[in-house]
Amino acid sequence: MTTSPPHHAVPATSGAGERTGQAAIEFVGVRKEYLSHGEAVPAVKSLDLAIGQGEFFSLLGPSGCGKTTTMRMIAGFEEPTTGQVYLDGKDVTGVPANKRDVNMVFQSYALFPHLNVLQNVSFGLERKKIAKAEVKRRVGEILEIVSLTGMEKRQPKEMSGGQQQRVALARALVNHPRALLLDEPLGALDLKLRQQMQIELKRIQREVGITFVYVTHDQGEALTMSDRIAVMNAGLIEQLGTPREIYERPTTRFVAGFIGTSNIVDGRVARIDGSVAALEFGEGERVLAPVKSGVAQGQELVVSVRPEKIDLHRAAPQDPSVSVLSGTVSEVVYHGTSTNYTVATAAGTDFVVFDQNAHDAEDVASRGERVFLSWAPQHSYPIGV
Ligand code: ADP
Ligand code: MG
Repeated sequence: MTTSPPHHAVPATSGAGERTGQAAIEFVGVRKEYLSHGEAVPAVKSLDLAIGQGEFFSLLGPSGCGKTTTMRMIAGFEEPTTGQVYLDGKDVTGVPANKRDVNMVFQSYALFPHLNVLQNVSFGLERKKIAKAEVKRRVGEILEIVSLTGMEKRQPKEMSGGQQQRVALARALVNHPRALLLDEPLGALDLKLRQQMQIELKRIQREVGITFVYVTHDQGEALTMSDRIAVMNAGLIEQLGTPREIYERPTTRFVAGFIGTSNIVDGRVARIDGSVAALEFGEGERVLAPVKSGVAQGQELVVSVRPEKIDLHRAAPQDPSVSVLSGTVSEVVYHGTSTNYTVATAAGTDFVVFDQNAHDAEDVASRGERVFLSWAPQHSYPIGV
């Protein structure tokens, strides 16, 4: 087992179907169509993607966007209609699944019900005729990592869902595959256990140092665990980045809406001051957003703002360097750690504001009240229209 940190190397092409880079997994010009009633239906439209060695990489997107299809092309259960798949720089397109040295873990644990933990985990190694002492060493090591030491004699039916998932994980990791593919593996667990397992999975991945590709439709899960996330929509990657990049700087309306809650404002640029554009919505009301050069006065701009970046006031803020919008509170929902306000704003859209319940025992405003929202320019992100 290695404990070296991930080094997400960027691969390069050397021509003639070989990749010289260190990417663990790479898709080049991949498209996948399924035949449905004699018609070709694209599940993955166009995929160019490099996943680094030892990376915890997530494919995140709504049901039907092509996540499982992408995984199955890595595993070799599906072949691309066009394009190539590389593992460790080698073109494996057309190589059968059992020759690819990647393992997959599913939501259904698929354990042998009549075998105990030890037998379930050592099964694959024994079939490979690995020496008994070596099997014992490796199984002991992996059971330690997944925190199942002492449960060797238990049968699956004597274990909780979370424990069974650990057995499945140990079985998939014990022969040191070059990558582990996990397709919504925590879907059957209740919320609390799922959150515990997310932290555990991340720790396990760090300890074994194996590349993990994780499929989920749960944004919280992807944000918690991943080194990088590819947000997929309708067979395409919409955005690729670290959890922080994806959350803080969504580049499309879809990503802004799918990951967390976003407030989206449309407007025309009234003026540009240095690198900050201003959208104006009447007397003293404006949205300020940092923009790249090339954005011109009069141009349409769509801006997204996260609810926790916004401050709520009863009186109009006087600071000219922040965004200010007035509105009327239409909803107040107490959530324990925060109070969430919905405010119908002068910009024509409803804003959601999360107000941390850090100090105040009372809500800032109640339903029907007129309020002012303000936030710093850097918390406005221009997104694709
Ligand atoms: P996800 O895992 O993101 O939910 P999938 O990769 O399973 O998405 O599916 C992507 C699209 O391909 C969906 O529209 C789905 O209906 C279709 N699809 C998946 N598998 C098949 C198949 N074997 N035959 C035909 N269509 C399929
Ligand atoms: Mg799926």
